[in-house]
Amino acid sequence: MAIIIQFCGGTGTVTGSMHLLTIDRTKILIDVGLFQGHRDAFYSVNSQFPFSPADVDCCIISHAHIDHCGNFPTLVKQGFRSKAYLTPSTRDLCKYILPDSGYIQEEDIKYVNKINKRRGLPARYPLYNQKDAQNALKFLRPLEYHRRMSLSKGIDLTFYNAGHILGSSIPTIDIHTNKGVTRIAYAVDLGRPNLPYLKNPEIPKGVDYLFIESTYGARVHSHIDTVEDRLSKVVNRTVRRGGKIIIPSFALERAQEVLFFLSRLLRQKRIKDIPIYLDSPLAVNITKVFQNSWQYFDKDTQELFKKQLSPLEHKNITYITNVNQSKRLNDRSGPMIIISASGTCENGRILHHLKNNIENPYNTILVVGYMPRDTLGRRIVEGRPMVNIFGRPYQSRAEIVVLDAFSAHADKHDLIRYIKECRGKLKRVFVVHGEPEQSDELRKKIKSLDIRVTIPRKNQEIYLSA
Ligand SMILES: [Zn+2]
Ligand SMILES: [Zn+2]
Repeated sequence: MAIIIQFCGGTGTVTGSMHLLTIDRTKILIDVGLFQGHRDAFYSVNSQFPFSPADVDCCIISHAHIDHCGNFPTLVKQGFRSKAYLTPSTRDLCKYILPDSGYIQEEDIKYVNKINKRRGLPARYPLYNQKDAQNALKFLRPLEYHRRMSLSKGIDLTFYNAGHILGSSIPTIDIHTNKGVTRIAYAVDLGRPNLPYLKNPEIPKGVDYLFIESTYGARVHSHIDTVEDRLSKVVNRTVRRGGKIIIPSFALERAQEVLFFLSRLLRQKRIKDIPIYLDSPLAVNITKVFQNSWQYFDKDTQELFKKQLSPLEHKNITYITNVNQSKRLNDRSGPMIIISASGTCENGRILHHLKNNIENPYNTILVVGYMPRDTLGRRIVEGRPMVNIFGRPYQSRAEIVVLDAFSAHADKHDLIRYIKECRGKLKRVFVVHGEPEQSDELRKKIKSLDIRVTIPRKNQEIYLSA
């Protein structure tokens, strides 16, 4: 039996995860993520697949982050007509994440085409629009954790919990041959123990080939237990000044995590009784999915839900979707907390809140996520005295605080611990989903454990022995 894996995306970088597994004639695509980069690269990389989408027999989506699921509508647009398996929560999240991605592209292309028209250049088109994304949803097939699904004769799929975000999974593929079973597990992305409300990452037994992420292959996170203390200090300090706390946040997972901690601090009376606004239609919809998925959370959180004490609700928390309501926040005086998207401050309503609040030294901009290079968020974190918002310069006079303990990714120690736990039958580890220096550090560490390890190149094909 021939087993070939082709690493089509998410190698040498953290975005655009996509891997094609061919077992004899069966083609299984694991993840179909969006590659995120500058506009031209974004459109050229994401519009071309190194295989024919119509020939793919089935697709597996590990979780609802856009770098793992976000190019699925393009796959469908280019001819994929089969089933895409994912956990029920990932399916529920994709219903909002994928059309939102279509909307962002439509808006981006509108802006580009305005400029192109002035320059006499031809019009451009989005990879997919909201309608394409809606159409793609009908190919999604939910599969519960730990339930076996036959993908083809002798090939089964089981999802284990990755403990990374709601619905995240470690898709595990069992290939039955006359020699026994060959097991491939895909821990991309992998969470870390003790994250709020999530169950800890699971370890599938008897893994032969392990895919592992390396976003933080060379880094160690601050402990998640320190978040509440640090968060309460920042909030109380700003409240004493009468200022507003502006929190740019990713709509999926980080916004809910921040709400989780804030509502707990309110209940414990560790922060003052101030209003909290979640101002992002996408984050509000996603929070509703979280509320309806409580059975997938850890035991403590399930207990809270059973007692009707949702950690995502509190009398002080208001969800805002309406634009006028969002604008009215500007007329209200502090103290208050506003959580808004996008997390990198590149688009969305957060730009309005930053523009209105960044020049006031009584306010705080609280950074709770990673700010990539060349984003407004990064410029704010770097402490530049002036930043451009909507093409106009603003003085950055608010207090800037970075809370770096929030990561949902395993760090260097977590990754190594995880690999050691998988050891038993392990034949080889593939290190993906990382910047080169992060992947390489992890590779060296795995090699020192006497485990065969490879950092694949983009589009490299590797034969696996059954
Ligand atoms: Zn992820
Ligand atoms: Zn990822």
